[in-house]
Amino acid sequence: MLNIKVFGIVQGVGFRPFVKNLADSHKIFGNVANRGSYVEIYAQGAENDLNNFISALKTQNPPRSTILKVDISTFPDKNFSDFQIIESVHEKGDIFVSPDISICEKCAEELFNPKNRRYLHPFINCTACGPRLTILKNMPYDRERTSMNDFPMCDACKAEYFDKNSRRFDAQPICCNDCGPKVYILGKNLRGHDAIKFARKILVSGGIVAIKGIGGFHLACDAHNFNAVERLRNSKTRPTKPFAVMFRNISAVKRECYLSDAEKSFLDSPQKPIVLLQKKIGSIAENVAPNINKLGVLLPYTPLHMLIFDFPDEISDFPDALIMTSGNPSGVPITIDDDAAIKNFDFCDAILSHNRQILLRADDSVMDFIENRPSMIRRSRGFAPLPIFFSSNKKSVLAIGGELKNTFCLAKNDLFYASPYIGDVGNLQTVEVLEKSIARMSDLLEIEPEIIACDLHPRYQTTILAEKLSEKLKIPLVKVQHHYAHILSCMAENNFAGEVIGVAFDGTGYGLDGKIWGGEFFLCDTKNFERVASIKSFKQAGGDKSAREGWRIALSFMNLDIARELRLADEKNLRGVKFLLDNDINCVESTSAGRIFDAAAAILGVCKVSSYEGEAAMRLQAIAERSERKFAAKSMNTDEILGEMIKMRLAGEKICDLAKLFHDLLAEMIFGTVLGISERSKIKTVALSGGVFQNSLLSGLVMEKLRFAGLKVLRHELIPANDGGICIGQAIYAKNLV
Ligand code: ZN
Ligand code: ZN
Ligand code: FE
Repeated sequence: MLNIKVFGIVQGVGFRPFVKNLADSHKIFGNVANRGSYVEIYAQGAENDLNNFISALKTQNPPRSTILKVDISTFPDKNFSDFQIIESVHEKGDIFVSPDISICEKCAEELFNPKNRRYLHPFINCTACGPRLTILKNMPYDRERTSMNDFPMCDACKAEYFDKNSRRFDAQPICCNDCGPKVYILGKNLRGHDAIKFARKILVSGGIVAIKGIGGFHLACDAHNFNAVERLRNSKTRPTKPFAVMFRNISAVKRECYLSDAEKSFLDSPQKPIVLLQKKIGSIAENVAPNINKLGVLLPYTPLHMLIFDFPDEISDFPDALIMTSGNPSGVPITIDDDAAIKNFDFCDAILSHNRQILLRADDSVMDFIENRPSMIRRSRGFAPLPIFFSSNKKSVLAIGGELKNTFCLAKNDLFYASPYIGDVGNLQTVEVLEKSIARMSDLLEIEPEIIACDLHPRYQTTILAEKLSEKLKIPLVKVQHHYAHILSCMAENNFAGEVIGVAFDGTGYGLDGKIWGGEFFLCDTKNFERVASIKSFKQAGGDKSAREGWRIALSFMNLDIARELRLADEKNLRGVKFLLDNDINCVESTSAGRIFDAAAAILGVCKVSSYEGEAAMRLQAIAERSERKFAAKSMNTDEILGEMIKMRLAGEKICDLAKLFHDLLAEMIFGTVLGISERSKIKTVALSGGVFQNSLLSGLVMEKLRFAGLKVLRHELIPANDGGICIGQAIYAKNLV
């Protein structure tokens, strides 16, 4: 008899029923069980049958499962007379929790089939699809340990659950119109289909509806309706930050956006992330994503989304594109329950909710493409908590992550599990959510941290939380320099543990010298780093304001006369900030590359004040992409580059050409610096990280030059280059300390 242990995403994806069917067809006796961290099979039969069984096991596994490792050992035979699925038995070990999976094609078909008993059921799912992480309390994955435990199965569902020929054999969230959760309109006596029809009526007439989804609420309105979008912007105090748009189907997407095969493969994947696509001139309202060339696009990924677009009622002109933006008040994590929804969404015309609890928040993931490869902007629903593999020791680590775009990481053995997106941890409410999410994920993954890691910044809320947890749990705290953590996360993603030249171009991070860093060149490995170069330092005047108001940065590169000529700001502000700069009042020294982008955007008049993080850089790139000019490579430092911008702007050069020139010169500066470091150090591998490298124009230019010079480039694909990725870098450093 063989004992087979299968490791990987083998829970909640129909793996045990698959094994049972396979065993039956190969005349194998024995059993299969979830062990929490793996699936264990006892298999007994003729040698030939066993061999066929094992090879089929490895190659014909269900579409949503991922086999990472199979261990096989021999045992004496037992008295089996059939093959059975046995109760889950809990054992400790590496844990693989499935992310949430979008509705599959078969379920979508049944959803709109009037003859099916799940016709129009907003929670239809099967072993291949449905929520997982967001409804899971503990491992192993069984109904009683999910928020579906509140909904006892009806007889018909029970029959399917136990029928090995059913698509829903052993499907934990199985339910139907009779026994499943219910949708309703909050504050109104409208339930089920009436609730969906009501929401559709409001949306088609230009209203705003809050809709409870898989990992939190969305705010929805007609994406073609300028006034509806404007009202949503005003209510959310979000003047220009782009909204994501959910399209009914691929053909509606293609009408409004260009779509490559690579982009389509992710857009329509089981993860269904938001993908940033090049806009066409179409019918989407211009205030959905103003001043940039791209649009964040996603497809319906739950049965409820599909019903909102296509419910068979009397409405025939329902829009095929809806704004679907995370339902959260500014600066606070996504709303997940009714009480908070009532408080937060008073401006909505309706709140469409349901009574299945969300146990862990998960915002939509957001993905861009660079050189036709993914470039993750926000790694959350569909991807978290899939671990990243990186050879390491057994120590358990909790890395709290950064302050902006926070995610945290729990690591054990060679596995690094990054959490879903938490958000900007600027206030106590977010800290509370972060703390609770850490507790839930630690429970779920059964990781008791022995070390905590956090950022070096003394005033980050995340640092304060890390200090508190370190004291409470009586475990050591390790602080990791921000940009070093960025580079480590890039090395981890590329499974590279050697020496690299790390280029971290970023917004803001606390430096070893207490100054603001963000345009850094390191020599490093997984244990140490040395800052070998950085961009030329400059003064940031006016504290927090200098991170939003690019004209303040620009002013430190010119005199007042030129600032007036460029109309950087009004006279009073110009004089005020110049006074601060000249007398070194409320100024910090900075090497932030992100701020250099802000300064360039202000000098060119593209964006003088940002209303969201990265706005100036995104708009600068969008304008640069209109330029056809190619400039001769010149080696300049950032002072000289901005000086050149000023000179040429005053000479009347076209803004788009200058925006392009800025990217060209910056790429050349990065390239030249790396080349010098490589010649001196003989290191030939370069890791690019930090939010600035989300700029596909700059990244493309830099990578091309580096590769042409024979250097190996490590870049981000599925781990964000921005602060959403640094928790992994922190965890690697902390683990390596022991
Ligand atoms: Zn399905
Ligand atoms: Zn049922
Ligand atoms: Fe950063």
